[in-house]
Amino acid sequence: MFELPAKALEIKDEVEAFFNRRILPNHKLWLQQAHQGQSVPDIEQTLRLEAKELGLWNMALPRLTHDEPGMRLSNLEFTGVAEILGRLEWASNVFNCHAPDVPNMELLQLFATAEQKEQWLNPLLNGDIGSAFAMTEPHAASSDPVNLATSITRDGDEFVINGSKWFSSNASHANCKLIILVGVTDPDAAKSKRQSLVLIPRDAPGIKLLRNLPVFEHLSDTNTHPEMEFNNVRIPASNLLGEQGAGFAIGQARLGPARLHHCMRAIGECEVLISLMIKRSQERSTFGKRIDEYSSTQEAISLSRIELDQCRLLVQRAAHLLDTVGNKVARKQISMIKVAVARVYQSIADRTIQLYGARGVTNDTPAARAFGKARAFRIYDGPDEVHLQTIARLEAQEQDGNLLEHYLLNR
Ligand SMILES: Cc1cc2nc3c(=O)[nH]c(=O)nc-3n(C[C@H](O)[C@H](O)[C@H](O)COP(=O)(O)OP(=O)(O)OC[C@H]3O[C@@H](n4cnc5c(N)ncnc54)[C@H](O)[C@@H]3O)c2cc1C
Repeated sequence: MFELPAKALEIKDEVEAFFNRRILPNHKLWLQQAHQGQSVPDIEQTLRLEAKELGLWNMALPRLTHDEPGMRLSNLEFTGVAEILGRLEWASNVFNCHAPDVPNMELLQLFATAEQKEQWLNPLLNGDIGSAFAMTEPHAASSDPVNLATSITRDGDEFVINGSKWFSSNASHANCKLIILVGVTDPDAAKSKRQSLVLIPRDAPGIKLLRNLPVFEHLSDTNTHPEMEFNNVRIPASNLLGEQGAGFAIGQARLGPARLHHCMRAIGECEVLISLMIKRSQERSTFGKRIDEYSSTQEAISLSRIELDQCRLLVQRAAHLLDTVGNKVARKQISMIKVAVARVYQSIADRTIQLYGARGVTNDTPAARAFGKARAFRIYDGPDEVHLQTIARLEAQEQDGNLLEHYLLNR
């Protein structure tokens, strides 16, 4: 286990106390309000104000400057906090530590001009607005960004955007005011220099919401995944984020922390699922035996513990690398955690469903929803196969084959 500094442990304890005292007991109320159609349930808004007042705010942004609101934690320091936030789907929002705003704020911190920061980063840091990241397209195999077709064309001192995007999470949420869009500015340039990122006000004329997409039939107002069309959407040329043609490199900078945070939160949710498995199997009996006495139950729980602890160590190592050597060098470890955690998350959710029997497939427990989220996680932030391809390529590059001949006999 990586040792966390005293400051990080203190903050983790504070977050845990707030979670246990204010968030978890209000979970039912949050669900009721969300089901009534509140896109930011009133209770969430109340708790956001309380958390901000306590300074438990913006804890997932290691680059936070001293004049920006919140608490600066390194990626490694944030791991413990993120696990607590992962226990409930909405807990990250309370502390302004949620996706997609955190990775979007990171992008703005790294690449925005002073004016762009004033207009977009500051309100995001304050929690006054939300944002979305629009890369994936319905008609392009978007796990390879070279395929993206949405055009960003210069016209005088404006850019004109045309194309379709989907799964731009949060873009149809009532609080979303900014869409960071990836599109093609330079179709004839080298593959990695064709794309740029632009900042689009959500209310710009020409943006058409086609539908909100369900994820395994789950549709909600709090967590939206819209399909949208951009028809001659005009923005000032000054809304380019970073350099023209640098979209590929800028997008990569966003993905490291985004994947890391998703993994950390998933581990926290898996801890809840393991506890629920134990509780359930101690409470029920079949054929004269308590369910926790069956070896199949013990195996389900034990394998979950082994796999989850392996994942935690991998994630802590990736976080440490991100802090010390940066996104580019940590690339292999980021891909490794993305594959490992998503698979373990899915297995643990699956085992929990099984142990809860019919109740496991209802929404009486968090297991069914966790299973759907885990399955989706094997696709978003890059499908498993693409990460496995990256790991194998980097692994081969790192190998030094010079001494291997000595192991190979009888040539
Ligand atoms: C819940 C959810 C939230 C999302 N949020 C966002 C968001 O906020 N913003 C955004 O832009 N996108 C978002 N996405 C989209 C997501 O990032 C893409 O779906 C993902 O990158 C894959 O792109 P694709 O769907 O076009 O699949 P494709 O590129 O068409 O790939 C389909 C399948 O082909 C196979 N494949 C692809 N490449 C390889 C390979 N190299 N080797 C072997 N097999 C391969 C894999 O099985 C892969 O799953 C979200 C998706 C989900 C489900």
